[in-house]
Amino acid sequence: MIPTGYADPALHAHGLFINGQWIGGSGIPVINPSTGSVLAEVPDASVADAMAAVEAAHAAAANWRKTPARQRAEILRRWFVLMTDHAEELATLIALENGKALPDARGEVSYAAEFFRWYAEEAVRIPGEFRPTPSGSHKILVDHEPIGVSVLITPWNFPAAMATRKIGPALAAGCTVILKPASETPLTAYAMARLGAEAGVPAGVVNVLTTRQPGQVTNAMLADPRVRKLSFTGSTGVGRGLLAEAAKTVVSCSMELGGNAPFVVMDDADLNAALDGAMVAKMRNAGEACTAANRFYVQAGIHDAFVKGLTERMAALKIGSGYEAGVQCGPMITAKAVSKIDALVTDAIKRGARATTGGAPLEREGFFYPPTVLEHVDPAADIAHDEIFGPVAPIYRFETEEEAIRMANDTEYGLAAYVYSRDLSRAMRVAGGIETGMVGINRGLMSDPAAPFGGVKQSGLGREGGVHGILEFTEPKYYAVEL
Ligand code: NAP
Repeated sequence: MIPTGYADPALHAHGLFINGQWIGGSGIPVINPSTGSVLAEVPDASVADAMAAVEAAHAAAANWRKTPARQRAEILRRWFVLMTDHAEELATLIALENGKALPDARGEVSYAAEFFRWYAEEAVRIPGEFRPTPSGSHKILVDHEPIGVSVLITPWNFPAAMATRKIGPALAAGCTVILKPASETPLTAYAMARLGAEAGVPAGVVNVLTTRQPGQVTNAMLADPRVRKLSFTGSTGVGRGLLAEAAKTVVSCSMELGGNAPFVVMDDADLNAALDGAMVAKMRNAGEACTAANRFYVQAGIHDAFVKGLTERMAALKIGSGYEAGVQCGPMITAKAVSKIDALVTDAIKRGARATTGGAPLEREGFFYPPTVLEHVDPAADIAHDEIFGPVAPIYRFETEEEAIRMANDTEYGLAAYVYSRDLSRAMRVAGGIETGMVGINRGLMSDPAAPFGGVKQSGLGREGGVHGILEFTEPKYYAVEL
């Protein structure tokens, strides 16, 4: 395929985007995971480049926070329209650099653009408060001010949506930002920055930089007193390190971290609905999602039928390059990701699991692992505790509700969970017992720009999306008013 227009990788490898200018450079090859070949090369920002971005964001901040909310909203709305106009090209770009199948990439662009639409609507509705003190001594007035210059760090698995989920609320709240996308998938971020400029985002309000030294560059930005917010989406390990770094200058942090989602199927579940939901919860982005079902807990009475049904559906998926028509399961992001999945599956099989389909990496160019179903998995296996981040569905049998809840909670994570039962009060009871930030009830997909997305335990701090997301980019300021 020959990508053209906004889908052309070369168009988005011009340089860092700082203060509305493209600053040329190279040093980070972007690999097509479907083939292993280089798509383009983007710049490797130094600490000095990052400081220039902080300076630009700081210089633009005073005007941006003063810009009427309605005007900020209209710019975000235009950005939404431009993303929608270029949806097919952006989806192709995502499929090229990330590898996800085109239907998933199209879904991501639409989901990503919706954050701009939602926050265009929220920009004009930031709440305030006015109330008397209980003693009657004075009035309490609370204003939500923009928190200030914000550093946004995003992962490779949703190159568009993880960026818009942060940029949308930040801009709506009146903050200026520096976005550092993942090194594997920077082209989509640069493509969106170009559209943002076209939509009328003023110079310095959104800056984008890529670097080979994310630790050094981020630490330098966090040490700068002009930076007041860090919003990070990525692994729990990196998130823990960033929290420690941010503590040095007491920078406000929002953290969207790893997951280990349980998918619980009760005996009375509608089998076909549960299988449909399982395919969505497991195979969106070929399993490379923080909300991906990582552990399938299936009650004894429905267990064998569920294993059979899931095996048939997983085995029928068409594997191939993300951007090929008809493909349902693309490659993993890197060869390292394939090795990690392979090690988890090998460990599970050594401990007694059986692969009913798949079970070993594919011998072909690119980074492919086939859809895999494992039964008889030992709950002590590594696969029960680590994020798989791939198309592997380990299934565990349980007998009672209490056992399902106990097994679901046997993890340091608490991002997403799924429960299937025809009895809604039973489903709510089980869901209520699971320590998690989000639950899909008889539903395999929960992400929505209007909903608060986020986790408990070591899956994160704060929420993105919904009415909650914008408050992460504000500070309440209390005026004690003598009247
Ligand atoms: P990652 O390795 O933690 O990287 C995420 C981002 O952090 C990348 O931009 C990376 O830059 C950057 N980074 C790495 N080390 C850093 C450091 N020392 N200081 C500052 N930034 C640093 O995660 P990933 O492998 O890209 O993404 C997968 C993880 O993200 C999974 O655990 C998944 O569950 C999680 N995730 C969570 C959510 C959620 O909403 N909770 C959503 C999506 C993904 P480089 O690329 O340049 O290394």
